Amino acid sequence: EPAKPSNFLRHVIEADLAQGTYANRHWAGTPGDAAHHAAGMADPAKVRTRFPPEPNGYLHIGHAKSIWLNFSLAQEYGGVCHLRFDDTNPEKEEQEYVDSIRDAIEWLGYETYLADRPSAPGTLQPHEYFASNYFDFMYRAAEYLITADLAYVDEQTPEQMRLHRGDFNTPGTDSPFRARTVTENLARFRAMRDGQLEDGAAVLRAKIDMASPNINLRDPALYRIRRATHHNTGDKWCIYPMYTFAHPIEDALEQITHSICTLEFEDQRPFYDWLLDRLAEGNLIASPHPRQYEFARLNVNHVITSKRKLRQLVEESHVSGWDDPRMPTLAGLRRRGYTPEALKLFCERSGVTKSGGWIEYSSLEGSLRETLENTAHRGMAVLHPVKLVLTNWDELMGAGHLEPCSLPALPHPPEGVAPVLRHFSIGKEVWIEREDFEEVPPKGYKRLFPGNKVRLKGGYVIECTGCTKDATGAITEVLATVVPDTKSGTPGADTVKVKAAITWVGVADGAQAEVRMYDRLFLDAQPDAGGKDFIESLNPNSLKVVTAIVEPSLANAVAEQKVQFERHGYFVADKVDHAAGKPVFNLAVGLKDSWGK
Ligand code: ATP
Ligand code: MG
Ligand code: MG
Repeated sequence: EPAKPSNFLRHVIEADLAQGTYANRHWAGTPGDAAHHAAGMADPAKVRTRFPPEPNGYLHIGHAKSIWLNFSLAQEYGGVCHLRFDDTNPEKEEQEYVDSIRDAIEWLGYETYLADRPSAPGTLQPHEYFASNYFDFMYRAAEYLITADLAYVDEQTPEQMRLHRGDFNTPGTDSPFRARTVTENLARFRAMRDGQLEDGAAVLRAKIDMASPNINLRDPALYRIRRATHHNTGDKWCIYPMYTFAHPIEDALEQITHSICTLEFEDQRPFYDWLLDRLAEGNLIASPHPRQYEFARLNVNHVITSKRKLRQLVEESHVSGWDDPRMPTLAGLRRRGYTPEALKLFCERSGVTKSGGWIEYSSLEGSLRETLENTAHRGMAVLHPVKLVLTNWDELMGAGHLEPCSLPALPHPPEGVAPVLRHFSIGKEVWIEREDFEEVPPKGYKRLFPGNKVRLKGGYVIECTGCTKDATGAITEVLATVVPDTKSGTPGADTVKVKAAITWVGVADGAQAEVRMYDRLFLDAQPDAGGKDFIESLNPNSLKVVTAIVEPSLANAVAEQKVQFERHGYFVADKVDHAAGKPVFNLAVGLKDSWGK
């Protein structure tokens, strides 16, 4: 194993572990009631990361990067990673999305590194955290800030608020409500909570600095009024915390040590620290509090990583669903034949840096190819079949005779693994690829043409004698004779030299299969760059379905089994539609990078 490339996050964590940063958490007074949230986190020194998806869509390849990063750091440093559903927004969340996120984490094989306590209070499942379980605490934290004169209820209109915020070049100006007394703020905030104000009539804002060069520090909103039923807390609340307020609190309550997010949140870090410093002073949370670290988000050419846009593809039926094998969702990639190993390899290779960039799609495909090369069983499949008739078969072998053949399932079985053979048979008629016969061969053509000999891979050497055609001139059958005593694996196999071996499947034991040939969903490398309408970049040829003939070992694949159709690529038996007697395969990735060639 080559040494893992290090990254700035590993350095930060190693320094914290060496200094015992989090081993000695302390409180400003007697541990406050936040301590109960941490109950069961027996080892405060542990590295604790978190993956905090908002359950408003399916996870995509970008999330895989964040999952990989957070879980593998926890794994590497003997820590844990919290799966936290960031469900503070009442409107967009759905159980279907919660379930799909669970599935994805499980599929990636990271359950073992989930939180080390049996069950978080009030959560729906052991090992899972829900931000909405902290609404009571968040409310108290807000009241604390008001009491400390660090927050106020602003009743300007949104338009006035926007005008007062200023912009990049102009400092903001104070709201007329900023000078309210603590008592008045407390009363108004409770009025907000108790439903006495209309939606949007007021917000609670932090009192920081309207002239700050960082616009995020110009008295950011902490709470808003929204009469919406929440999937967890029902109608208990008509006020909901803003993400920027909720997120640091969630991290602190769970005693996260390293809160890793993407670069867009860099400007939010000063507020993250401001808030947690104030709450620590108020003895609401322990010190030292978690720290936020940013890395560049993953962008992959030809891929869209925005849940909103992916939802549009689903809702407008450009794809068959969130798990369409062309989708960059984890559910889609899984159905496409991606393995957790391939995704982890890809994430690792894409690097953890502070500056963004675009990764080639071929890097993702390369990772899959690598993980399948020595694991996916080989088999022959004919994607564009034409019948080949061996005209001397009956005379030579006996009418109706089927000769058993076999080939290794893996050309290089891993050490210590017994070689597996696949069995199939050859008879008078076999299917070959239409492109493997030419009546008049182009220059350099080595496959079947009248007078030429080739080997049927794993079978016999044959000599082409011609073809039959229908009234339109289309080829109906290719004709050949078997060269006696040339069966693969017998002493006579090498007596006749040929320049090509072609793939084939016996008519007698081949099975029909639906094969879905996928290509990239988008033609443009950056389909949504610069506000472009990404729908216009959809590849009209991203799916072609063919009826192929596959050898028995392929027909017997189980759903989700990855195989290599020799010479064609890696395929997976479809998770949803493949069944015994009705094989359905999806193209996962070609044998080599050939896109655009
Ligand atoms: P979207 O904009 O598609 O809705 P999001 O970032 O809002 O994505 P969340 O559910 O909030 O979605 O994301 C959970 C975590 O995944 C966050 O910590 C976020 O930083 C991370 N994440 C999302 N997209 C990427 C990406 N492309 N690269 C790396 N990390 C990502
Ligand atoms: Mg988000
Ligand atoms: Mg989002």
